[in-house]
Amino acid sequence: MKEKKEGITMEKLIIIKYGELTTKKENINLFITTLKQNIKQKLCAFPVDIKFDKGRMFLRILNEDFEKVISQLKEVFGIHEIMIGYELKTLELEQIKQELLSLLETKPFQTFKVETKRSNKKIDKTSIEISSEVGGFLLKNKKEIRVDVHHPELTIYLELRNNESYLYFETIKGLGGYPVSTLGKGMLMLSGGIDSPVAGYLTIKRGVKLEALYFESPPHTSMEAKNKVLALAKELAKYNNEIKLHVINFTEIQEAIYKNIPHEYLITIMRRMMYRIAEILASKNNCKIIVNGESIGQVASQTLTSMKAINEVVKIPIIRPLACFDKLEIISIAKKIKTYETSILPYEDCCTIFVPKHPVINPESKTCQEYENLIPYKDLIYKTIKEHEILKLGNSKEENFKNLL
Ligand code: ATP
Ligand code: MG
Repeated sequence: MKEKKEGITMEKLIIIKYGELTTKKENINLFITTLKQNIKQKLCAFPVDIKFDKGRMFLRILNEDFEKVISQLKEVFGIHEIMIGYELKTLELEQIKQELLSLLETKPFQTFKVETKRSNKKIDKTSIEISSEVGGFLLKNKKEIRVDVHHPELTIYLELRNNESYLYFETIKGLGGYPVSTLGKGMLMLSGGIDSPVAGYLTIKRGVKLEALYFESPPHTSMEAKNKVLALAKELAKYNNEIKLHVINFTEIQEAIYKNIPHEYLITIMRRMMYRIAEILASKNNCKIIVNGESIGQVASQTLTSMKAINEVVKIPIIRPLACFDKLEIISIAKKIKTYETSILPYEDCCTIFVPKHPVINPESKTCQEYENLIPYKDLIYKTIKEHEILKLGNSKEENFKNLL
């Protein structure tokens, strides 16, 4: 929205600060252009024009949907802060002061401070000098206001950049992290539990684009259990620019394990099979890592000895973002990202059917191998991968439009 007054154009826009991205030196362009693409995809339902430099991104929204745009931007990693601001095509302090005064006409406040940032070093005044000059001007021109540098009701941010200056009064916290895809792809083992969606969220935060993998065992696991996973994948898709979900039918493998292998080793062997399948799907889909929600000591299959026996069947790195988190810490993130309520719905997962009374907590690799040789697991794995289902969920153009209605 442009307003023209006495020769200067003042335009309302959204300003984005990148945060941790600015520590990247030679790669910074990749990070910023990826962020721009991600924002464009997220905002595909809005008429928006995006420009950027190494310090800021500027979004011009061609209608007045600032609130809706901001709620979408709060789901984009790589954004440190979001501001609704005004761009003035001038660096002249006299003009800036007049425009500021007109902006403040409708803002009730009694105490204030001015904070100036001057990235254009050709300006011959320091930031502090500019702040005090602008502050002094406001004191002269507005009644009953005073400066409070510690707890002001209103902070006036003034940024002087190349040929433009920017005014804003409030900053909204973004999610931080890196833009999705800047660090490549990973394969998330996504169950219907509390942990794996949280592990996924934390991994996306570090710039890894996720595909997800769910093992189902119909008829032992229900359609409701699968729907729960679809709902969780959709929640994650908000941060991931949609998500590809691989659904593996695990029934034959699980039944073969149950019928042929001593029960204390059921879970260990089942998880070794899951890892093998995850590694194959990861490599077929260009994923450099597997991600899961394991947490040290949480259950028998997550003791250090168990993790070693399970991990040794694959070469691909396994990232366990929750390895050292307490359950309560995990739950508090699950609530924040709104996956908790879905995760606690009471449908059986393939890990919770066929649970042995006394699962081994110190499994031995040699024993695992001996037991595995009792079943034709390579054939079973090949078959289930060949037949597996692939779904694309969330954040498509149509869904973004639907969300706005
Ligand atoms: P909970 O919150 O109940 O612990 P969970 O999903 O973490 O749920 P675990 O038995 O602790 O369940 O499993 C450890 C990890 O293994 C999960 O976080 C998930 O990454 C993976 N996993 C377990 N079951 C499945 C499944 N059916 N499909 C895909 N991944 C699974
Ligand atoms: Mg768990």
